[in-house]
Amino acid sequence: MILDAEAREESWFGDRVFDVCVVGTGPAGVTLARRLAAKGLSVGLFEAGGEAPDPESQALYEGATAGQPYYPLDATRLRYFGGSSNHWGGWTRPLDEYDFAPKAHNPLSGWPIGKGDLRPYAAEADEILNLPADRQPPDILPKDHATLVPRLFRFSRPVTRFGEKYRAELAASERIRLHFNANLVDLRVNDAASAVTEALFRSYKRNDLFAVRARAYALCLGGLENPRALLNATSQVGKGLGNERDLVGRYFLEHPHAPAGRIVLRQPMTWMIVCSPTPDFMDREKVLNFGVRLGHFDEWNGGDFTGAFAPQPECRTDFDRLLAAEMKGAPTACPAHVGDAFIACEQSLSPDNRVRLTGERDRFGLRRIELDWRLSETDMHTLRTAAMTVGGLLAERDVGRLKVADWLAEGQAPTADQLWGGNHHMGTTRMSADASAGVVDANLKVHSLANLYVGGSSVFATSGHANPTYTIVQLSLRLGDHLAGVVGRG
Ligand SMILES: Cc1cc2nc3c(=O)[nH]c(=O)nc-3n(C[C@H](O)[C@H](O)[C@H](O)COP(=O)(O)OP(=O)(O)OC[C@H]3O[C@@H](n4cnc5c(N)ncnc54)[C@H](O)[C@@H]3O)c2cc1C
Repeated sequence: MILDAEAREESWFGDRVFDVCVVGTGPAGVTLARRLAAKGLSVGLFEAGGEAPDPESQALYEGATAGQPYYPLDATRLRYFGGSSNHWGGWTRPLDEYDFAPKAHNPLSGWPIGKGDLRPYAAEADEILNLPADRQPPDILPKDHATLVPRLFRFSRPVTRFGEKYRAELAASERIRLHFNANLVDLRVNDAASAVTEALFRSYKRNDLFAVRARAYALCLGGLENPRALLNATSQVGKGLGNERDLVGRYFLEHPHAPAGRIVLRQPMTWMIVCSPTPDFMDREKVLNFGVRLGHFDEWNGGDFTGAFAPQPECRTDFDRLLAAEMKGAPTACPAHVGDAFIACEQSLSPDNRVRLTGERDRFGLRRIELDWRLSETDMHTLRTAAMTVGGLLAERDVGRLKVADWLAEGQAPTADQLWGGNHHMGTTRMSADASAGVVDANLKVHSLANLYVGGSSVFATSGHANPTYTIVQLSLRLGDHLAGVVGRG
């Protein structure tokens, strides 16, 4: 059932206690709500926006940035039904096994779960995200190298917009009550501050609050807004909820994205190949995970890219001539052999990379955020090593050449047009086995609260190099199964 909170009536919430109150309708919230309903639970699903973008809702995402240049905070996410899935690109990869393990060169790294805990959800995540079957990368790079492994992305096509894809199902559902124009503004807790007792919401046109009660609550507001909601929940607990150790909002992670240079290959590029490091290489070189994409930047950034490049006529110019033309910046005779190298990499963990509250307040009186995003020496070392290693391998095996971008080759700090973020907001309510190292536990429950859970990439303990949404969906399915057990109907 779909309802508009502007038209709410006393009877909607009076004595009602949902099994689970889920807030947010992006990939995390919709996936969780559907899973809970499939397990027979009653779900109150609350969305701040409506069915279409609206400046009134979007303005509540405004905030400040510091450090590395970043997107305006009201442009790097969308605040309506479907959340940022309304403009995501559909690039997917699961995290690698190695991403879950602790690494000495990235202090605090390591997840309390492993890839095996998410694997049971892979088939359903594939179906939700409209993904094709996995396939092997074409054989254009040396196979047996101990340094790099070739990988492929899979693309959500048609791209899953969660609002569009699941609207009819949610409207017809007897177990899910979806409410539009419902802005979470506070979470109330019991006297011991050990459990949430109700979630308070506001709509736009009415000044009164409305309270929603449930046996469990799940915040699925996105990686910047999950910490914001917890930090703003100060009406009973001065530091905000789950923030006893001042960890909420810290350890923000992005995937630094940077053009690495131009490539000329002996074989034609038919698919976008991603070169990633082996675990041994990462440990040996003290670098984090990365993917160096090889192919055509303009094509892979086109809306409907599926991983394969448009077919090109056979090349009749020899490799040395192609290389010479590329070095001079002349137009290429064989586009299939000449293209771009582009890095997206993991970031190291730093408590100073963070979301913090500012003094400015939004229309509901909630403090806005500042996002402080910085690159560490490990991040810079990872970027540079990624480019130099791919370039070295291509030359050493004589399969091609990479002309590395000057700032990377010379180890300079990047400018705003040399490096940017991926609109991936991770790590700000990180998962940890122990409350001293994170905000949520292995089941995504806030360590210090019995019935408050968090969904989305804010729970990532580290980021790997893979785009986050595939893992977000897997985690939401797993959270749904866990909650079904907790509220007694699993
Ligand atoms: C331009 C762009 C391209 C991207 N491309 C990719 C890609 O190719 N691959 C990939 O994996 N990821 C990509 N992403 C990231 C992807 O969109 C996010 O990982 C994903 O949407 C996060 O899902 P979520 O449900 O956690 O959060 P969101 O999608 O942000 O959803 C949060 C929801 O919470 C609601 N909400 C917020 N505050 C409140 C409140 N106070 N009360 C009630 N509701 C509230 C919002 O309206 C929204 O519906 C991209 C992002 C952008 C911006």
